[in-house]
Amino acid sequence: MTNSNQTSSHIMHTYGRLPVEFVSGQGTQLFDTNGKAYLDAISGIGVCALGHAHPDVTAAITEQAQTLIHTSNIYHIGSQTKLADKLCAISGMDTVFFGNSGAEANEAAIKIARLHGHQQGIDEPAIIVFDQSFHGRTIATLTASGNPKIQAGFGPLLGGFIRAPYNNLNSIKELTGNKNIVAVLVEPIQGEGGLNTPDANFLQGLRDICTANNWLLMLDEVQTGNGRTGKYFAYQHHNILPDVVSTAKGLGNGVPIGACLAKGNAAQLMQPGSHGSTYGGNPLVCSAALATVTALVDGGVIENAATQAEYFKHSLETKLAPLNNVADIRTAGLMIGIELTHDCTEFVAAALEQGLLINVTANKVIRLLPPLIIQPHEIDQIIDVLASLIKAANTEAESA
Ligand code: PLP
Repeated sequence: MTNSNQTSSHIMHTYGRLPVEFVSGQGTQLFDTNGKAYLDAISGIGVCALGHAHPDVTAAITEQAQTLIHTSNIYHIGSQTKLADKLCAISGMDTVFFGNSGAEANEAAIKIARLHGHQQGIDEPAIIVFDQSFHGRTIATLTASGNPKIQAGFGPLLGGFIRAPYNNLNSIKELTGNKNIVAVLVEPIQGEGGLNTPDANFLQGLRDICTANNWLLMLDEVQTGNGRTGKYFAYQHHNILPDVVSTAKGLGNGVPIGACLAKGNAAQLMQPGSHGSTYGGNPLVCSAALATVTALVDGGVIENAATQAEYFKHSLETKLAPLNNVADIRTAGLMIGIELTHDCTEFVAAALEQGLLINVTANKVIRLLPPLIIQPHEIDQIIDVLASLIKAANTEAESA
């Protein structure tokens, strides 16, 4: 591993970094400066769904970079049009706005909700958001997020958000008398908040309440989208259509791109001058994203994710669930949370030592977001390392 002191003092101190630098990658593997291989079970936080150095994405980037990287949205961009057409065909949405990140995709959604309110003469439009949610780090998206830690020190926060408990339809029904509410913004599965999965009727119930009250149902699929749960979007497991969907992460397999998709009236609210982004949807990122989406959908990668997810779930249930200090296992496709009875933040460094990249969220939840191209022998390897770490922690707790 490389030395942790290699972080420059000129880089703003926003991240606690692990003591390693990767210099190349291939499929599910990353290699550090000493040539040591690591199995990547986190994919750059759910980004590199096709794995590293995927040949189609590399070819698309190379070809586009040799031709034209950027022009701006003052002009037509062919690859942006093609990507929007493809995403709308996949999602059932009508229009797309392209930005550069998940937070920006959510900013666009929040602005659409406010336009929707003002169109109906609501001067102070409000959006329902949820406890433990995560929507990004801009001022609007951190205000929308249900995590006081990421808000601390950044007040004053914005008005126009009403918080509710996740998975509790009654609390939403109680808000229907509030005439300022214009939308609900929700993650189909809460990723950063600890991999909280919805009850079977929660999203359908939200859809019904939104329809009855003329609220927009806005799904944050930044993490759950692009095949992560075994379908292109997580809402496709629930037989509903949202009014707005935001996505990013797996969309470009590593190039910075985010998208806000909308349907019906919500799709028509933005007009020239309402919103924009200099880089958003430029030729380079759209070519990379087109290659990514094509490989995900037409190359059978999402099907592989759905198949491997079953094997993963079975292995987790048979090999990890019986361990004393495993409190719960929650999965949605290849979005996996293993909740322990104790803090396990130190597992990240311990797994790194053993050549496995994982993440821990909400202190107690081991989070795995492996590349969607993963194969059974790699799943076995991940489970073996985790089992050894969990068992060792259990022995320590018993002898303490
Ligand atoms: N929304 C969700 C559900 C996320 O998981 C994230 C990032 O983890 C974001 C929004 C923010 O995305 P970005 O970091 O690309 O701005």
